[in-house]
Amino acid sequence: MTIKRLAKWVLASVAAVALVACGTDESAEQASASSQFETVNWKMVTTWPKNFPGLGTGAEKLAKNITEMSGGRINVKVYAAGELVPPLEVFDAVSRGTAELGHGAAYYWKGKAPAAQFFTAVPFGLTAQEINAWIYHGGGLALWEEVYQPFNLIPLAVGNTGVQMGGWFNKEINSMADFQGLKMRIPGLGGEVLKKVGGTPVNLPGGEIFTALQTGTIDATEFVGPYNDLAFGLHKAAKYYYYPGWHEPGSAMELIINKDAFAKLPADLQLIVRSAARQANTDMLDEFTALNNDALNTLINEHKVQLRPLPNDVLAALRSASEETLKEVAASDALSQKVYDSFVQFRDKVSAWHAVSENAYVEARGAK
Ligand code: CA
Repeated sequence: MTIKRLAKWVLASVAAVALVACGTDESAEQASASSQFETVNWKMVTTWPKNFPGLGTGAEKLAKNITEMSGGRINVKVYAAGELVPPLEVFDAVSRGTAELGHGAAYYWKGKAPAAQFFTAVPFGLTAQEINAWIYHGGGLALWEEVYQPFNLIPLAVGNTGVQMGGWFNKEINSMADFQGLKMRIPGLGGEVLKKVGGTPVNLPGGEIFTALQTGTIDATEFVGPYNDLAFGLHKAAKYYYYPGWHEPGSAMELIINKDAFAKLPADLQLIVRSAARQANTDMLDEFTALNNDALNTLINEHKVQLRPLPNDVLAALRSASEETLKEVAASDALSQKVYDSFVQFRDKVSAWHAVSENAYVEARGAK
């Protein structure tokens, strides 16, 4: 080896060693930052009654997964609606740091940010499969983060109910005239549509619906679907069960995280929280998909519930009222317009694809 080549080799070796050393130092530093991280006790407040099927139990499973995946370094305790804060105060509680995590649905917070409504369910909007595609691969999540940024919150999708039911009524719905003066529990954008067609929307948390319907405080209610509605006993307070849930074609549940608390976590724990949320997102939809039809059969066969489709002309009128409502919400502020534009563009694109894939296949398979 010539002197020149030797010098080159030495220089290259030194550089390589320096690189390796640097890498080792960095990962050692990260590992020690993570292992030295003290255990945190986090509170998860929820908008759901205790052990409520699918939604409440979804929150419990997510909390357990975060605790176990982090080896107990993030110890999450779940509080059902009302245990620590009332259900519709979850957003404020996590925003100010009373709790680090909140489990609920974004459309409950339309009074805080109108654009939030696009991230749970939009009448005649996206199905579960489609909303997940928009959130995770269509720019939806970045917009959702932008909407919650002023509230010191990070949002994540943590479950989906799939297409919901149209709701429980004590009279038949034969025409749009039947919505005149109808006082119905229906949150979010669906409620805005009901108002447009002459009804009175009421926003009530799950735990208060049954009594309100039974005592006649409300005439009708939507909630989720057979699996949840059966558990709530809604069939004991109304006779007719209508489908489909035009107002909630795939309702995404949300996890809100206090931004300051999240920023204090080392990178591996942040990833664990995000990964547990992603897992929960899929798991909840699987649960609803697997269990809804059995619950529907129980409602029809054991409880003699009258299952009814909403008439086609009623659905068409609701669709056109929905389109008007969405445009109005979009015009209410710049951020809502930005979210609406992204949402509608995505809906058009995915509808075109699903016309030749999901829809064409499901139609070809036929119903049993
Ligand atoms: Ca609902």
